[in-house]
Amino acid sequence: MTDLSYLPIPTDQARAYQNGGKDAHGNTPKKFVCEEDDLPCRHCLNNIEKGEEYLILSHRPFESPQPFAEQGPIFLCADAERCAPYDATDKLPNMYEPGGEILLRGYDEDNWIVYGTGQIVKNRDIADAAKAILAANRVKYIHARSATNNCFQFRIEAAV
Ligand SMILES: [Zn+2]
Repeated sequence: MTDLSYLPIPTDQARAYQNGGKDAHGNTPKKFVCEEDDLPCRHCLNNIEKGEEYLILSHRPFESPQPFAEQGPIFLCADAERCAPYDATDKLPNMYEPGGEILLRGYDEDNWIVYGTGQIVKNRDIADAAKAILAANRVKYIHARSATNNCFQFRIEAAV
């Protein structure tokens, strides 16, 4: 069986946003104080806690702006010191509760969607579904996105 890696957005990108760098639309990330308990930071892959400052910005989780390079909103801790890169990459982040749902979609080596791989699964089934998708022809990695809002959550690769 393939082992999986659950990967956050790159630390250099997170730090650039947290230091006021422009987002994928060329805007400065907007800062807010968290009033809910379930805003997922895409770098530490923890929920941002009520009362903590966080950023909303547009992120493109692809290197180049090709046709399949979707860009959209993400949340990020505002304080870099409270936002260590997620490092338990062999485990699904705790904030994804078993009964929740998520959208998984496979991409090929050119970063194009591999049609037929997209599916909404229960969080408890992410590992099995991701292994099946990665076994599909041409799939190099998977993006996990919100099942309801389509926001990018994290990336899944076969562990090396
Ligand atoms: Zn964070």
